Amino acid sequence: MLQNQTLQLPAAFKLAMQTQLGDAFGTFEKALNQPPPVSIRYNPLKVSGQMGFPDNDPVLWFNQAQYLAERPVFTLDPAFHAGAYYVQEASSMFIGEVLRQSVDLSKPLKVLDLCAAPGGKSTLLASLISADSLLVSNEVIRTRVGVLKENLQRWGSANACVANHDPEDFGDLHGFFDVVLIDAPCSGEGLFRKDANATKEWSAENVLMCAGRQKRILSAVAPLLTKNGTLIYSTCTYNDAENAQNCAYLINDLGFEEQKLTLAQTWGVVQKKFGYQLYPHLLRGEGFFVAAFKATNGKAYLPPRSNRKQFFRSMRLVAPGQANELRKWLAKPADFAFYSKPSLEIIAVPNALNETMQTLDFALKNKGLGVEMGFFKGSDFVPSQALALSTAVGRNLPAVELDKSTALQFLKKENIVVDAPKGWLLARYGGLNLGWLKNLGNRTNNYLPKDWRIRMDIGEL
Ligand code: SAM
Repeated sequence: MLQNQTLQLPAAFKLAMQTQLGDAFGTFEKALNQPPPVSIRYNPLKVSGQMGFPDNDPVLWFNQAQYLAERPVFTLDPAFHAGAYYVQEASSMFIGEVLRQSVDLSKPLKVLDLCAAPGGKSTLLASLISADSLLVSNEVIRTRVGVLKENLQRWGSANACVANHDPEDFGDLHGFFDVVLIDAPCSGEGLFRKDANATKEWSAENVLMCAGRQKRILSAVAPLLTKNGTLIYSTCTYNDAENAQNCAYLINDLGFEEQKLTLAQTWGVVQKKFGYQLYPHLLRGEGFFVAAFKATNGKAYLPPRSNRKQFFRSMRLVAPGQANELRKWLAKPADFAFYSKPSLEIIAVPNALNETMQTLDFALKNKGLGVEMGFFKGSDFVPSQALALSTAVGRNLPAVELDKSTALQFLKKENIVVDAPKGWLLARYGGLNLGWLKNLGNRTNNYLPKDWRIRMDIGEL
């Protein structure tokens, strides 16, 4: 929002919030006219500690995060490109606390993030689940899948898959998931402060349309949970039609039981009849609603009876010679099996998840599985960007540490000069991988994918 400009709230929204908040409405409206707080969440798979940010201003309900006093130009921080942290609004991070209180995170879990793009909650889930758990990050809108995939690849977990499906397409996976997060498309009332334009799109009709769509999503997804699995439902809105009434639908019509949380008073989170509401006048974050439910009447997954001879639909195990070459690129090669796609792209599938990924492969058409490793060009292996950023990549591969301005040149996809051995090199900044360089002696080739490059004009470096 522009400074010194008062946010114009739609009259019907204002009335509904006055009814909901009573005397507190004035403080709520005042908060909407304050600048939104800036917060980041660290990637525990890649960094520990504060990453060199000056402030020590923690997010109360999530210990791997902090507020920043000002919004820096994140594009100019190579560590951001390396997936060291995600810029996420603090209220959304409350999902982490909900998960901690409602799920045993030490167990191997199958987790579905149904409405996942651009990947804020998925990267959070990936930080909290164990390495032998599976995360399926799904996004129905095809044009939003690219950014989701890029954000997850940056985050680097080897146990996350991206899918592109309608909620109705998961019919072969009834009883398959231990946790399903539905971060539903909603009327976005909680984001008015961050996006003043959202106020123009708000209408009472749109709220009802969103509530109906959310109900359809909930009924399509409810059967995907195994017995006593956890369904987490969240929106970034305040109204009862999208929040309380959908919770009531889950309990009364779909047979779920609400899981209550223990709240610290200092957080400022409000317990509602169903679920929990975060308000911008009571804490440092945007409007957010979340509720957790147990699938007490969930059914165990029954694999389809089949005479399937293939392990995967179309991926084939690579030849032993190629597998020997591929092992050199990974930190723990014994943990992976290597497959070749019809496009000849090589995929590393974690052994602990091989069977689970086969099930997914036959149940869903549009998805990626495992770690994209690269492809063979003759007998040479050309590594992929996803491998460079993956936590699975070898720790002792040849690498070159870049200073900030050279790292930014690399991220602009310029060809840089390095003093390093010939061949493939991991370009690094502060010990974090940014991508691949091939050093030919007199010059280097920069293998950063075009889509990943910094497009902003950053002037003289
Ligand atoms: N979870 C995301 C994050 O934390 O970055 C934000 C998700 S956003 C609130 C809701 C998502 O639902 C959008 O990506 C949107 O494309 C998707 N969506 C829209 N219509 C949908 C539908 N009918 N079924 C499932 N998802 C839908």
